[in-house]
Amino acid sequence: MLTVKNLSAGYGAILALHEINLEVNQGQIVSIIGANGAGKTTLLNTISGLVRPRQGSILFMGEELPRQPHLVVKRGIVQVPEGRRVFAGLTVRENLLMGGYLRNSQEIARNMEHIYTLFPVLKERAHQYAGTLSGGEQQMLAVGRGLMSNPKVMLFDEPSLGLAPLVVNTIFSIIKRICEEGVTVLLVEQNARKALALCDYAYVLENGRITMAGRGEELLADPRIRKAYLGEQAECKVKGSATAASELNPARG
Ligand code: ATP
Repeated sequence: MLTVKNLSAGYGAILALHEINLEVNQGQIVSIIGANGAGKTTLLNTISGLVRPRQGSILFMGEELPRQPHLVVKRGIVQVPEGRRVFAGLTVRENLLMGGYLRNSQEIARNMEHIYTLFPVLKERAHQYAGTLSGGEQQMLAVGRGLMSNPKVMLFDEPSLGLAPLVVNTIFSIIKRICEEGVTVLLVEQNARKALALCDYAYVLENGRITMAGRGEELLADPRIRKAYLGEQAECKVKGSATAASELNPARG
C-alpha cells in the first residue's frame, strides 16, 4: 500500500535518512523502532510532505505521493505528530473540526460520533479548551483529529511519549482497534516492547539506516533487540564472536 524506495532526506549538511526501503501492506500495523535521533520523525515527516526527500520515492497505492502536506492528507495519509500538537486555545470539538476540514458536514457529524464512541472522555469535554486536558486526553484528541479526515493510513509518531503506563495501554488498544476498523498503521515508537508486541512487521532504524526488519515477535525474540531496545543484559553471538548488542547500535552507546 505504501512503499518507500531508496529514500534519503536531511537538513542542510545533515543526512538523517540513508536509502530507506520499506513496505507497509494494507491492513497491517508496521512499526519503526529506534533510539533518539535515529531518524524516525524525519521518515514520517518525509512521507507527510513536511521534509523534502534528497532522493528516492514514496509510492502510495502504486502512485508517487504528492510532496505537499495537504495533498498527502487528501490522498488519505494522516500523521499524528509527536507531542500531540493539539490547538491548546481551541475546544476539543474545534480541534476535531480542524481535522475534518476536507470533509462535508455529514461526514464530519458521522466521524465525530465515531470518535466520541472511541474516546468517551472527549465527548464529556467537547467544549473544554484542549490545553486543559491531561497528556493522555490530548493524545486521544490528536488521534481523533487525525481520524476526522477518514484516513486510509495513519502515521503515529511516539504516541506513548510521556504517558503513564495505563494510558499507554489505552492508546495502544485504540491503535489496534483503528487498524481492525480498516486503517493501515505506521507506528514510530521508542517503546520497543509495546510496539513490537502490537505490530505485524517492524523495521529497526539506526543512525538513519534500516538495520533489521522482521515480524514483531521475531524481533522481540532477537537477542540484539533484547539487549539494545528492551534493556536486557545478555550477550549475543554475531558472526562467530560474542558481541554486545550496543556495539551493533552505537546510538545507544
Ligand atoms: P526522537 O526520538 O528524539 O524524536 P528521531 O528518531 O525521531 O528522534 P529525528 O528527529 O528524525 O530522529 O532526527 C534525525 C536526525 O536529524 C538527528 O540527528 C536530528 O538532530 C536531526 N534533525 C532533526 N530535525 C532537524 C532539523 N529541523 N534541523 C536540523 N537537524 C534536524
